[in-house]
Amino acid sequence: MRFQLYGDDWSIEYERRPGLWGECDLDAKRITIHPQLRYRKRLEIIIHEMLHAGWPEATEQSVTDTARAIAGVLLVESKGNQRKSDALEWIAVVAVTVMGLVIVIEAVAKTVIAVRAYR
Ligand SMILES: [Zn+2]
Repeated sequence: MRFQLYGDDWSIEYERRPGLWGECDLDAKRITIHPQLRYRKRLEIIIHEMLHAGWPEATEQSVTDTARAIAGVLLVESKGNQRKSDALEWIAVVAVTVMGLVIVIEAVAKTVIAVRAYR
């Protein structure tokens, strides 16, 4: 994954290193993330390292606190959107099913009427 920051081309790479969740190499413009972090932790670590990239002078504590807060908010927001899209998908499935039933009922009704008319 690559991203632009202040005109520089940065990369995010996944690499397992003992005792390291994430690292920001300001000279190489490279962020390294542990490949097996859980979703929330991965999000937090990516934001954390990107904050280091954008504000190298920021303290470790402010980067840690800000990244944790942003990750928490993004997680809740994206879950909200996921729920909305799940609901829309469910409504679409119900609509298609009802339409299918109406078509079948209509066909059966026409057949019944046709059979009665034939008698
Ligand atoms: Zn840090």
